[in-house]
Amino acid sequence: MEWTDDTIARLRALWGEGLSTAEIGRRLSISKNAVVGKAHRLNLPSRPSPIRRTEGDATPRPAAPKRAQGPTLPPLAASMGAPVPALRAIMPAQKFTTRATPCCWPIGEPGKPSFHFCNASAAQGKPYCEEHAAIAYVRVRDRREDAA
Ligand SMILES: [Zn+2]
Repeated sequence: MEWTDDTIARLRALWGEGLSTAEIGRRLSISKNAVVGKAHRLNLPSRPSPIRRTEGDATPRPAAPKRAQGPTLPPLAASMGAPVPALRAIMPAQKFTTRATPCCWPIGEPGKPSFHFCNASAAQGKPYCEEHAAIAYVRVRDRREDAA
């Protein structure tokens, strides 16, 4: 067997197509061992020898990125979508809670039947209504001034 440039070129081409060494040998009219030996000397990239395996590996490869994205996207979409319904569920509840929260300013003396809380609608984000929040603020300020 004499390797001509043409034969080597065909070997490279057939090898690149992923044909089995036996198939390449048949097409070049040489032995499989000659193909393997020449491919080795040419430093052709090694590959799984059974051609079906190569094809099997090659087939999922283009699909692999899609499959990688496939399972990734639904969880992403789900995780992105999840907070939305969660927020929608929470936000009305927060608004409701804020609006419904009664002012907890104590009126009267604790322990006595007359003791009760203001129960006016508390200002948003505050435990007291506007009126009592203003008083609470002043008192805190007064205490600080007293401390100083
Ligand atoms: Zn109040």
